[in-house]
Amino acid sequence: MNEPSPQAPTPLLQLENLSVTFATADGPLPAVRSVNLCLHEGETVCLVGESGCGKSLTAKAILRLTPPNAVLGGRILLHGQNLLELSEKEMRSVRGRQVGMIFQEPMTSLNPVLKIGDQVAEPLRLHQGMSRSKAREAAIELLTEVGIPAPQSRYDDYPHQLSGGMRQRVMIAMALSCKPALLLADEPTTALDATIQGQILRLLAARCRERQMAVLLITHDLGVAAQMADTVGVMYAGRLVECAPAQELFADPRHPYTQGLLHAAPSARSRGLERLPTIPGSVPSLANMPAGCPFHPRCKSALARCAAEMPPTVASGAHSTACWLTSQP
Ligand code: SF4
Repeated sequence: MNEPSPQAPTPLLQLENLSVTFATADGPLPAVRSVNLCLHEGETVCLVGESGCGKSLTAKAILRLTPPNAVLGGRILLHGQNLLELSEKEMRSVRGRQVGMIFQEPMTSLNPVLKIGDQVAEPLRLHQGMSRSKAREAAIELLTEVGIPAPQSRYDDYPHQLSGGMRQRVMIAMALSCKPALLLADEPTTALDATIQGQILRLLAARCRERQMAVLLITHDLGVAAQMADTVGVMYAGRLVECAPAQELFADPRHPYTQGLLHAAPSARSRGLERLPTIPGSVPSLANMPAGCPFHPRCKSALARCAAEMPPTVASGAHSTACWLTSQP
């Protein structure tokens, strides 16, 4: 829980007790629970954790793009304005203009029947009122910036004519087009091979640094988080179980789940050479959430109280943890 200190500049984005609960025939199912998080201008925060821990849902909640049966609670403050109080029309102008988005698989996000250049130009026409010819010029400039070769002629290509890496570059150009203050990137390089992944991450980091953009990067890859993050938040079962400056979290992981993730991450030395340790068991489903600390059935360090009581989040400086090992007197 990287809460703002009184001396710190006002955060660009502040999540206060953010919750996402699905209303189902079997009753409410909490999928994101009391997430507190701050992002400042120019800062990159990575959310890590296994699939199903609530990372993507947290990003979707910020954009209010959750499924219709999701009920959002808490506050999502962007420049101090609570996005949960905006009308859908007002949210449409937040998306793209104030908050850019990059998703995992560009083929599902790019329109297959529209030229890539027109897709980059569209937000410029929509949000910035540019004429068709001005938007085309600006889109070609953006395609150049993200490293699309021969952008003048590639402008008229359709998504299926590009490689996965090139499509992801187009997604980055679209997300940057309106110079948003905040970029949400959900597993932006997962579908790419390691070399292209490195290129795309370097490109993303450089463009965001130039623009002083804040980035919320969702990844299950701790190597990506180590490369990109100023701050890392670890999510498990919809909760932020540990949050700290990146160097500190990697040097001194305090939550058993974070420790397990780090042990299970391949290092350059071990990659392909030895069997990696794994965290036993799997992430609980929303319908079968264990009582107490949701990690206790998988935790080697569990105490008696862990199965009965949810540990509170306790901060020590900029490092917060939700675990009875660090929060009991
Ligand atoms: Fe493990 Fe208990 Fe800490 Fe949960 S609260 S992570 S079960 S020690």
